[in-house]
Amino acid sequence: MKISEIIKKETPSLSFEVFPPKNSESYESIKSSALEIAKLNPDFMSVTYGAGGTTGSYTIDIAESIVRTGVTPIAHLTCVCSSRDKIRETLSEIKARGVENILALRGDMPQGMTEKSLDFTHASDLVKEIKDFGGFCIGGACYPEGHTECDSFTKDIQNLKIKVDAGCEFLTTQMFFDNHILFNFLYKIREAGITVPVIPGIMPVTNAAQIKRICSLSGTVLPRKFIRMVDRFGDNPVAMKQAGIAYATEQIIDIYSNGINAVHVYSMNKPDVAEKIQSNLKGII
Ligand code: FAD
Repeated sequence: MKISEIIKKETPSLSFEVFPPKNSESYESIKSSALEIAKLNPDFMSVTYGAGGTTGSYTIDIAESIVRTGVTPIAHLTCVCSSRDKIRETLSEIKARGVENILALRGDMPQGMTEKSLDFTHASDLVKEIKDFGGFCIGGACYPEGHTECDSFTKDIQNLKIKVDAGCEFLTTQMFFDNHILFNFLYKIREAGITVPVIPGIMPVTNAAQIKRICSLSGTVLPRKFIRMVDRFGDNPVAMKQAGIAYATEQIIDIYSNGINAVHVYSMNKPDVAEKIQSNLKGII
């Protein structure tokens, strides 16, 4: 099913993200985590694409195994290191495996790789390519706090409009820990004429060290309330997990309360975290 159809429904929906293995050794265990999450029957599941596309075949394999469970997958696809021919070949493969949705991304140049794509500069170029290929529902990434490479928030939103106009049917946000940042962003993009649905991406933080590192790389603002939680419970994995899931649940309920129906959870291959979030929302979704 196309995600554009799924997110049209007027009741709250929940989707989960998994990431593919880096090597064949962890393939089976990651696939089994993805299938555990699929058993929760979320509205859809996303499968990320390894930096530079080196593990692209795992993304497609895992997405195909999700199709077989009856849950709708979306395969991420990056273009930063890819040629047009390679992208077309990958699109044929994705289509042949029954995956109808793609999150079109530029990606970041992996360390040690220097050969940039000659065919694609921005994600909008990939969106155009997928649109010309045909048959997919296309989503794109967006950044409520601005993308780290863009000095001007206004310019970042103008660039986002180019991507949407190229054929994105919806956008998924980068994680954020203060919902006001999302609401301000939505106001700004609607003002700029971007009207496609935006799916907020929520990260349940269960590992204090990891989140500090990710946020320093992505420039994500950490509200005081969040920092206090991490400082208080960061050394106690059980407490941190419980607090992180509660924080994410509160964010999601606030988003639904403000009239946004689709929320995506960065469940990071953790079926227990996905299950807990879903059960916290049982009476709502
Ligand atoms: P773009 O939309 O191309 O934007 C990148 C930068 O270029 C921005 O600063 C933008 O303002 C600027 N820009 C865009 N268009 C133009 C233009 N026409 N002219 C001038 N400047 C322009 N990475 C992975 O490797 N694999 C994944 O699976 C993955 N999944 C993600 C999912 C989500 C929801 C998000 C938010 C990010 C994800 N990423 C993933 C990370 C992403 O690849 C990086 O954030 C990357 O730096 C930007 O990708 P993009 O698709 O947003 O790029």
